[in-house]
Amino acid sequence: MPVAFVGGKKVYRSLNSLDSKIKEMTPPETVVISLKQHIGTPAKCVVSLGEYVTVGQLIGEADGDYSANVHSSVSGIVCAIELDENGIYCIKIENDGSNTASDPTPYTASLLTSTPEQLVEEISKYGIVGRGGAGFPTHTKLKNTLGNVNKFLINCVESEPFMTKDAALLREYPADIVSGIKIMMKILQIKKADVFVGEQMLEQGYNFLNYLKDRSFIDVNLCDDKYPQGDERQLIAAVYKTEIPYDRLPPDTFSVVFNVETCFQIYDCLSKGTPITRSLISVDGDGIETPQNILVPLGTSIADVIKFCGGLKDNCKCVVVGGSMMGDAVNPFDTYVTKTTSSITCFKNPPEHKGEDCIRCGRCEDVCPMHIPVPLLNRLWEIDDISEAKINMAHICVGCGVCTYVCPSDLPLKDRVEELREKIIMEAENE
Ligand code: SF4
Ligand code: SF4
Repeated sequence: MPVAFVGGKKVYRSLNSLDSKIKEMTPPETVVISLKQHIGTPAKCVVSLGEYVTVGQLIGEADGDYSANVHSSVSGIVCAIELDENGIYCIKIENDGSNTASDPTPYTASLLTSTPEQLVEEISKYGIVGRGGAGFPTHTKLKNTLGNVNKFLINCVESEPFMTKDAALLREYPADIVSGIKIMMKILQIKKADVFVGEQMLEQGYNFLNYLKDRSFIDVNLCDDKYPQGDERQLIAAVYKTEIPYDRLPPDTFSVVFNVETCFQIYDCLSKGTPITRSLISVDGDGIETPQNILVPLGTSIADVIKFCGGLKDNCKCVVVGGSMMGDAVNPFDTYVTKTTSSITCFKNPPEHKGEDCIRCGRCEDVCPMHIPVPLLNRLWEIDDISEAKINMAHICVGCGVCTYVCPSDLPLKDRVEELREKIIMEAENE
């Protein structure tokens, strides 16, 4: 019986990209690599203009616990170091096409004799960050969790309706995923890991289960196919029937959740001795010629990714990065792939938010996974009442967008609640 959290909604799902084999994208002529691809302080630039860099070379050094190293995805000359519109330094590299790589240094010590601290230290070199969107550095999450948890959940639920990359990874790299899980179990000092897959990827979950020779230390479980079941708080709520208070974190329930791709990345980086230089991205939607899952060099423009996928269909009107529910429409020519880019969705007919009057149907409130009074917040947005919005918890919105999806009046509720949240945060910072 699949587990489910309270709230959420079954959403229209497209799995066009699922069946194709994961491809590697040919590196583009230039890449623009941001020094902030994680939640914390931007990395410190350690290269200079005109310098020759190799694939995997450190170009940005982590600055603090919530920062992460950044490495070059191509070999070539640093041709610009410029601020982007958010005031973050980006390093532009002209690819020389030789794909010259830095010398790899695989981790060769035995897992049996390595300590959790040694493994975390090793992982910190590779610049691995969470793939859920915020970009929380993986080594910091592991460090903060050491000795604090007794439940290890591996998130392969993939509830965003146009994303299939985790299912493709599960199908194509089961051995690497299992090896990554074993490393993480050693670090967390946990004897059992539970993998959770969404019902929509029953076949991939079943095949992975069959692949496991010894199921005593890894089990595979099903989650209801509804959105946003892939959010880690909703996963814990579904599995343990206990909701994490908004001001607490999963370790407060002695649980930790890592994405299946993080398990894969940990093994891949340690075994090859190479850092994160690519992102696995689902390119899907009815506006793209060839939907697929591809490994894209960091700093590639979204326009180059689209070109690699055969281009946009003539009547494609909108390109969304970051999930069709949570993401934002972008200009493909000035948006670049980062470590947190996991999907590009191309729409012929993007949903229009006409903004008719609220009819008080209550659907948005029923589906909100954070149980926020969304209709009231919509009203507070209209009158710009930030202090009431704070009392009514606008700041705990996770931006999932399911309220917008169900609203019969086509109100852009997610955008409105997020605007309130940002104003509340800004006010708190200025106090
Ligand atoms: S209010 Fe926020 S958390 Fe609730 S459904 Fe809307 S976007 Fe999701
Ligand atoms: S779903 Fe839309 S119309 Fe219904 S209560 Fe919420 S805001 Fe109002």
